[in-house]
Amino acid sequence: MRITIIGAGAMGSLFGGLLASVAQVGLVDPWREHVEAIRRDGLRLVEPDGEKVIQVSATTDPAEVGPTDLAIIFLKSHQTEWGAEIARNILKLDGLALTLQNGLGNRDVLAHVLGKARAWQGVTAHGATLLGPGKVRHAGRGPTHLETRPDIAGRAEQVAGLFQQAGIETHLSPDLDSLIWGKLVINVGINALTGILHVPNGKLGEMDAARALMDAAVEEAVQVARAKGIALPYDDPIQKVRDVCAATAANRSSMLQDVLRGSPTEIDVINGAIVREASALGLQAPVNKMLTGFIKAIEASYSARVA
Ligand code: NAD
Repeated sequence: MRITIIGAGAMGSLFGGLLASVAQVGLVDPWREHVEAIRRDGLRLVEPDGEKVIQVSATTDPAEVGPTDLAIIFLKSHQTEWGAEIARNILKLDGLALTLQNGLGNRDVLAHVLGKARAWQGVTAHGATLLGPGKVRHAGRGPTHLETRPDIAGRAEQVAGLFQQAGIETHLSPDLDSLIWGKLVINVGINALTGILHVPNGKLGEMDAARALMDAAVEEAVQVARAKGIALPYDDPIQKVRDVCAATAANRSSMLQDVLRGSPTEIDVINGAIVREASALGLQAPVNKMLTGFIKAIEASYSARVA
């Protein structure tokens, strides 16, 4: 099976590196230095038990990629549409484009460009961090869930089998909403606030004023999930998000990393998605609206920052 990873940052490199032993894998990414390092030295994957060097093809030019059975989109959400356009050019007629990105709405973008039949959704509990060009740390392990549905059942099983062979624990499920929203609610509580306050995750739980905002943002997301009839995969969402803050106390959230780097964030598919979903249901989400507004103002101010 030919698999093309579109967006080979931390997660794309991780999945590409793992899958390279069981499939014909190619990475496509716009970051030239990273692609050149992989071509020159191989992909360096740092696991808890040591570093592995994996030979995998990589390019910045999607035109170099051959007909693909599976495209895995691991770009940040503001680039998903661009990734979908690449997938349109390289996918075989029965090829699938799988998003394992965080947040809500990436799959809709794939469906808009490629048609519903070729858009595929999953959710993964793996974590990864880029250490530099060509080098990625496998930061956390956990299950990966892929949607299955009648029109793709055979292909979904084949891909899940390959993932398993590559050491990626994979499950097929007809309904991923609970898992997607379970992850979303945690990101809603942690990402924007850490990005605004420039603090690691643990601090949110330790500061009363920050914790109150976090709890309020989470509560709004929970109300939206409830109104949509989605059961979250844990009983007490506010306690769950506080527990995640404590368990990942030293981590810098991806949104904080984006803000510190002056890169666009995924705010639109996280807190912004809660605002949109609430509005569609006739609900209000004022805290998420405010957090979204702050992050958008921060993004707009990158080029005007004082030293
Ligand atoms: P990433 O920031 O590592 O990579 C995203 C894009 O940014 C890639 O094209 C990458 O090449 C580019 N990039 C990164 N650093 C760069 C630099 N210094 N200079 C130039 N370009 C650079 O993103 P990611 O963490 O792999 O996330 C991809 C998607 O997966 C997102 O939707 C994210 O929410 C989701 N996700 C991430 C994790 C995680 O642990 N990182 C876990 C689950 C889901």
